Amino acid sequence: MGVFDRITDHGHEQVVFGHDAVSGLRCIIAIHSTALGPALGGTRFYPYESEDEALVDVLRLSRGMTYKAAAAGLDLGGGKAVIIGDPGSAKNERLFRAYGRVVNSLGGRYITAEDVGTTTEDMEYIRRETQWALGTPVAEGGSGDPSPATARGLLAGLRAVCRYLWGTVELAGRRLAVQGVGKVGFAYVRLLVEQRCEVVVTDARDEAVQKAVAELGVQSVAPADIFSVDCDVFSPCALGGILNPDTIPQLSCEAVVGSANNQLATREDAQRLAGRGILYAPDFVVNAGGLINVYDELRGYSRTRAMHRVDGLFDATARILEIARAEGVEPVTAAERLAERRIQEVGSLAR
Ligand code: NAD
Repeated sequence: MGVFDRITDHGHEQVVFGHDAVSGLRCIIAIHSTALGPALGGTRFYPYESEDEALVDVLRLSRGMTYKAAAAGLDLGGGKAVIIGDPGSAKNERLFRAYGRVVNSLGGRYITAEDVGTTTEDMEYIRRETQWALGTPVAEGGSGDPSPATARGLLAGLRAVCRYLWGTVELAGRRLAVQGVGKVGFAYVRLLVEQRCEVVVTDARDEAVQKAVAELGVQSVAPADIFSVDCDVFSPCALGGILNPDTIPQLSCEAVVGSANNQLATREDAQRLAGRGILYAPDFVVNAGGLINVYDELRGYSRTRAMHRVDGLFDATARILEIARAEGVEPVTAAERLAERRIQEVGSLAR
């Protein structure tokens, strides 16, 4: 498949390739849609095995951002960027500043933030070359690490699911299995424990499990055993693609509510979950807290305002579940329809 075939396949507006010979920068910025506003999405720093793999990833991720922003009701489009390289060894000031110039050349059509492999400190270098970088450190007046906001939004989404399934927003006594106690997962488990939930965790990193067990007093299981933990809600907070024909039959829960991006391996897996009577809260709806938080920087960051909006994910999730019920579709389909409707109705104002 040629580059233009790939770009036009999902209706991307623009794809930019950037390069700096001295620092070795190789980056791709994909703008999927600016119908609702500037395309905001993080910069992923990752050692892709090929340029093609990097292109496919950035196209997929940028499209996902369009839906995430639209479903959250933000005036933002969808975009994403990737830098090809090992974040452990290839990072340096010149590289990020050269990258910042590429971002700047887009004049605000694309706004970047941190993602896998980039940090708030990296954003500082990018900021020296462009105003179109968010997620700078709190000490610099920015919104800082988005993970606590993502965890908070996830809790709001979880409450909406609880009310839908069990008629109460009360979480005390609920049993949850959480896959991944990294930045989001750990913050989320802390919130769950504060709500007196019973939590079982796992992580591929032993030290992460030990920290959660020691500091939060939760139970743990081996990574392969997390799917079959008998619980009310399974929360994937590690990897994408983990809801698939292998794992879905193992699940022993009534709902899936997690932060991981692209949890469904394929769209058929949404039907597979529904077939087993498991409610799947669309990942791009319940994990939008970090995006909502960083979006607030565009107006001069106010934590109070940002958290208020993050808590609004309760209503956003509840609305999608109601639409799904009314239209007789899976929640992920309802969420996509809602996002597409908003892009069509509100987006046409800007033209
Ligand atoms: P992270 O890297 O801090 O944490 C991920 C954790 O998952 C790590 O501790 C890792 O060891 C663990 N893990 C990896 N593979 C595993 C496996 N097979 N079994 C068990 N554990 C495994 O990342 P994060 O920032 O916490 O993000 C978690 C997920 O949420 C990612 O999918 C990310 O894309 C998504 N997400 C994050 C944010 C955010 O604000 N950070 C926002 C939206 C979505």
